[in-house]
Amino acid sequence: MDRYKMYIGGEWCEAASGAWFETENPFTGKVWAEVARGGEADAARAAEAAHKAFTTGPWPTLTATQRGALLRRVGDLIAERAEFLADCEVRDNGKLKVEMLGQLRYIPQWFYYYGGLADKIEGAVIPIDKPGVFNYTLHEPLGVCVAITAWNSPLLLATWKIAPALAAGNTVIIKPSEFTSTSALEYVKLFEEAGFPPGVVNVVTGYGPEVGQPLIEHPLVRKIAFTGSVASGERVNMAAAKGLKRISLELGGKSPNIVFADANLDNAVKGAIAGIFAASGQTCIAGSRLLLHDSIHDEFLDRLLAMAGSAKMGDPMDMGTEIGPITTRPQYQKTLDYIDIARADGATLRLGGGKATRAGCGDGWFVEPTIFSGVENGMRIAQEEVFGPILSVIRFKDDEDAIRIANDVVYGLAAGVWTQDITRALTMTKRLQAGTVWVNTYRAVSFTSPMGGYKSSGIGRVNGQEMILDYLQTKSAWIDTNPTFPSPFALR
Ligand code: NAD
Repeated sequence: MDRYKMYIGGEWCEAASGAWFETENPFTGKVWAEVARGGEADAARAAEAAHKAFTTGPWPTLTATQRGALLRRVGDLIAERAEFLADCEVRDNGKLKVEMLGQLRYIPQWFYYYGGLADKIEGAVIPIDKPGVFNYTLHEPLGVCVAITAWNSPLLLATWKIAPALAAGNTVIIKPSEFTSTSALEYVKLFEEAGFPPGVVNVVTGYGPEVGQPLIEHPLVRKIAFTGSVASGERVNMAAAKGLKRISLELGGKSPNIVFADANLDNAVKGAIAGIFAASGQTCIAGSRLLLHDSIHDEFLDRLLAMAGSAKMGDPMDMGTEIGPITTRPQYQKTLDYIDIARADGATLRLGGGKATRAGCGDGWFVEPTIFSGVENGMRIAQEEVFGPILSVIRFKDDEDAIRIANDVVYGLAAGVWTQDITRALTMTKRLQAGTVWVNTYRAVSFTSPMGGYKSSGIGRVNGQEMILDYLQTKSAWIDTNPTFPSPFALR
């Protein structure tokens, strides 16, 4: 069995306690590797190593242009090893190779984009209403940044944090999910190969409360970039309040995907499938509530049932597979539990509704693509994030009704709108309470466009130019050229 050590200060090390934990392959249901089980002592060791690299050695003396070049070099290395890293991801999280390879081939763009931005972080010369004073601003890095990630897209989520953090001149500690730690330990090798000095990028593995929380609480840590559930996000936010750490939270969703009568229905059916059955529903932006206008409800549902019912399930490594297993045992059970909850609450089961036992699913943690119609928005299945392949279909009467239903959840991560009417598209975009609104598409992301949550779906944004400011602090510099200093007892 493979064994994965942590990477701290440029060295591979076991946990201080000597403990390990097992990681399983969701397709076989079998343990395939052991990973070092970090704790408080390891969190402290990583924080000290990252702080040392931030304050001494070559990293703080590099010019922004040199930092940018390092980022672009690691982007090239990731592009070269995309297939290897995608295979690591699939073995650990069971998502489709076609999806993970696509992600790995896209990840270098974040390093190119933020590498390019590194030497374009400009301050300002500010006109001051006092004669003889020269004032300017500098954007400076924060220090040690901790990136805590979820299991659904481990390296993509890590990259969204690490690329801007490094471009800004910080050092980072990655704490991957305990369910999918191994890909980060392969990925970090490429930073060493690219020439990042020891301690600039570290990986600490283990469970959230055991090693994640001590990392957040460590006095040398200045910023936490977190992806995970709302419940963990609230705990992380509270832990970060002590010591007044900067925080960004990418949390869950219960996103509406709204189909109007004037939509291109062929595209909208595919958009509904992409929203909930891609990645077996295990995406924060899943369009888990499908809102259908009364007049097209029955026809649309029939077409959706036909397409979802014929999706190919099986080995996620097979490039032809369309629906793979659920990533973790607890998530598998949670998904099945929600099927029972929806039934008990009176939703009508139209497709799936349990474990998938088809040929090709083996001993993996597969759940049939499941569709409930007749869902009322107040039901638990419409209000709570499942993070699995379960779709709630909800009818609406008119535009006002659609907006009311769409916004009636605690979440606000994303929304889809299917219409050919530009006025309706603009109105919906404005009135939907979501950090991302897609019109006539779904599940599209880019390194150039900000993404994040309204309401309980999070704090802060990832991607785009602006968010690099999350990893910087502004200094205002005053240079007084006046020959004399006036009265010391009055504000200058
Ligand atoms: P989770 O909250 O259980 O765990 C996420 C990470 O937090 C893991 O690395 C875990 O070890 C760590 N963690 C847990 N408790 C902690 C604590 N007290 N202190 C420090 N670290 C702690 O979430 P999950 O089950 O891994 O992921 C699924 C969730 O992530 C879903 O809610 C999903 O919507 C969300 N998600 C959001 C986005 C986004 O961009 N908004 C992207 C992907 C996933």
